Amino acid sequence: MEVAEERDVVIIGGGICGLATALALHRKNIRSVVLERSETLRATGAGIGIRPNGWRALEQLGVASKLRPTATPVLAQRFVWLDRGSQKIIPFSSGETRCLKRSDLINALADDLPHGTIRFGSKLLSLKLDLHTSFPILQLDDGSFIKAKVVIGCDGVNSVIADFLDLKPTKVFSTGAVRGLSDYPSCHSFSQELVITKKGDVSIGRVPVSDKLIYWFVSQWRTQDLKILKDADLIRQSTLELIQGFPAELVEMIKMSDPDSLSSTQIRYRAPWHLLSGSFRKGTVTVAGDAMHVMGPFLGQGGSAGLEDAIVLARCLHQKLIGFDLSSSPTQIIMQKVGESFDEYVRERRMRVVMLSLQAYLTGFLMGSPSMLVKLLSVIFMVIFFRDTLRHTRYDCGGL
Ligand SMILES: Cc1cc2nc3c(=O)[nH]c(=O)nc-3n(C[C@H](O)[C@H](O)[C@H](O)COP(=O)(O)OP(=O)(O)OC[C@H]3O[C@@H](n4cnc5c(N)ncnc54)[C@H](O)[C@@H]3O)c2cc1C
Repeated sequence: MEVAEERDVVIIGGGICGLATALALHRKNIRSVVLERSETLRATGAGIGIRPNGWRALEQLGVASKLRPTATPVLAQRFVWLDRGSQKIIPFSSGETRCLKRSDLINALADDLPHGTIRFGSKLLSLKLDLHTSFPILQLDDGSFIKAKVVIGCDGVNSVIADFLDLKPTKVFSTGAVRGLSDYPSCHSFSQELVITKKGDVSIGRVPVSDKLIYWFVSQWRTQDLKILKDADLIRQSTLELIQGFPAELVEMIKMSDPDSLSSTQIRYRAPWHLLSGSFRKGTVTVAGDAMHVMGPFLGQGGSAGLEDAIVLARCLHQKLIGFDLSSSPTQIIMQKVGESFDEYVRERRMRVVMLSLQAYLTGFLMGSPSMLVKLLSVIFMVIFFRDTLRHTRYDCGGL
């Protein structure tokens, strides 16, 4: 095997977490390269809700002030049950919630990175450890190899790095979701709320990004695996069939959606009990974001948890590397310092992501499961562990 290239820090995946991690490291003067398999930045999923904990992380990354003007504040969450004819409203009283266009978030993170940090069209195939140094060697799908000192896997739900760390496989939630954006050139009249309207086993969520743009999602509790559609017309058509009997303004919203924004997803999660015991570090390799803790979207916290990971990881790495140069320090020192910093990172993150994942898991069953017994058990666990349902939004991951 010919090793063509040597790098200090390699991040796999240029999604929200990979870009945030590269930016957090950059803010601490640690250079990295991001390998992204796509040819351009990907913003799949149209919009993303960011709760106060996510804004705290964006502040640390130095991009919050340029993102705020792109999205209107969301003041409350309203549940509407059409079958029962009832409603419930939960004010977002503590802190800032906004729904961003995913492309705005991705671009804001990428724009602040040094030129050349992201390497597009670079797909990681496999990783193994060098027999002599124990540093990771990455094999890319173009046949090339990179010898890295540090590898951070932000490669999402089907993570090569998670497999390398022997994490247990992710699981499929009995829910499928379609997401999209709808543009109202002469302004919409929707309230500044996340409104979730439920009828039978189908829910429609809508939330304003701005006075002209609405992010929406449609989810259905399913007994069988979702057929993932790629074609925008088919996604729109099958969604319209699903939402028959919903209010006309919601049907209209989906009819007028931007075809380029549409995507359909099967919800996956890493079991909270696997997060409790998983080993998230091997040598100088670790994981962050969905690769570590993909969770159901029922709290709208997966992306923000990835932003928090980025801050904590960069802080831990920087603290241990003060006075050491990754490029020139002896192998043993780097192995030890990076290993210690990753252990600290995992220690800080573990219970946070366990609790987020557990709350998302229980909330998913509470919102969707047709079984009264499952709902009852979910309520009991929610009362025991999550009496304060918005506590997760008050979390502060700390400074860089
Ligand atoms: C329906 C739904 C709604 C959601 N709503 C919210 C919300 O409102 N708020 C919130 O905070 N979160 C939300 N989430 C969760 C959020 O979308 C994810 O947690 C977040 O996008 C994960 O970011 P990531 O960077 O970890 O992974 P990804 O976004 O999956 O990025 C991984 C990147 O790695 C690249 N990659 C993968 N494999 C390789 C490889 N082998 N080599 C090179 N590159 C590779 C991919 O191309 C991709 O760019 C939602 C999720 C879903 C499904």
